[in-house]
Amino acid sequence: MCYTGSPLSRGRTVREKPSPTMTADPVAIARNLLRCRSVTPAEGGALKFLETTLKGAGFTVHRMTFSEPGADDVENFYARIGTAAPHLMFAGHTDVVPPGDEKAWTHPPFSGEVAGGELYGRGAVDMKGGIACAVAAVLDHLVANGGKPKGSISFLITGDEEGIAVNGTLKLLQWAAERGEKFDHCILGEPSNVNALGDTIKIGRRGSLNGHLIVSGRQGHVAYPDRADNPIRGLVTIVAALQAEPLDGGSALFPPSHLEFTSVDVGNKTVNLIPGEARARFNIRFNDMHTLDSLKALIERRAARAAGSAIKFAFKWEPSNAGVFAVKPGPFTDLVAGAIAKATGRKPEFSTSGGTSDARFITQFCPVVEFGLVGQTMHAVDERVPVADLTALTAIYRTIVDRYFA
Ligand SMILES: [Zn+2]
Repeated sequence: MCYTGSPLSRGRTVREKPSPTMTADPVAIARNLLRCRSVTPAEGGALKFLETTLKGAGFTVHRMTFSEPGADDVENFYARIGTAAPHLMFAGHTDVVPPGDEKAWTHPPFSGEVAGGELYGRGAVDMKGGIACAVAAVLDHLVANGGKPKGSISFLITGDEEGIAVNGTLKLLQWAAERGEKFDHCILGEPSNVNALGDTIKIGRRGSLNGHLIVSGRQGHVAYPDRADNPIRGLVTIVAALQAEPLDGGSALFPPSHLEFTSVDVGNKTVNLIPGEARARFNIRFNDMHTLDSLKALIERRAARAAGSAIKFAFKWEPSNAGVFAVKPGPFTDLVAGAIAKATGRKPEFSTSGGTSDARFITQFCPVVEFGLVGQTMHAVDERVPVADLTALTAIYRTIVDRYFA
């Protein structure tokens, strides 16, 4: 067992004067989680701790292990209280990336030490700290409301986010859907903020697509080019054409889509040989003006126009589960932004930047926004979070839950 004591222990070090309804201490919960060595795919006791904590507050808890050939088995977690709508889900992961050289840390990465007003540990911001704040906020809300929400609250927590993520959130959502679970909104507590708590809500992500362009020619002697067909000429023509024209001008929620070549390959080690084939690889980060299919069609059309009848080419597309998605600004994003403004005075930016996250799976089931701690130290040596941020994020989540069920 990696934790000790009660998760509900009063945070006298944090809250000088705890009010009668504010009993859960996010710092105590975060410390318990940080002391679990839950490097992907190890559960490390983190889910067990959440199970004990949430069962104690009346949640029904399900623990399940998912498998996939060639991948590690991973434990996952779903807890719900209430049976009625609306249903607000908090999503996240308790797995963490390895700490690297543990001696490089000022405080050991799995000790959960507080020093200089900051809580240290692998996962402090990504994202055990965020989970701790959500748990504390929900426990407080329940205590203040007779132990039951006016609707349902759930925690959907995976142990497979930092790895290859095949035994995590997607399977968990499919499992929940098969049971008839219906979600109305989700908050994913990933570290969304850039510099200060409350500066950024992620409301969507660009899609990502990888493709290969293959141009075929005819191999031959470099001194007799009339007897060969050099595919490098064709490749250069198509690469230039695809780079010349923007994919779009951006949309209301997203910046312009972007195609970037990442490799051009012939692999020819011989100086007097015209190669038979040339290849290029590229990635496209795309906005909501495209789908995966419409984007492939656009690229193939532009290449065909540049190639004319002379250049023989083909595209190979890598499978992608990273389509574009966004939550349209509206009542739910306003609710989150309002709670942030109340606690921090900041007006958050609605962002669609950055890489991909489990939100890409959740969006297939309900609207999802990402809001958690500040991402500055995630995955770094000395990952840490100011205790004040844990207190403030708990207050934000509490306001969200209170207003959601008001
Ligand atoms: Zn994360």
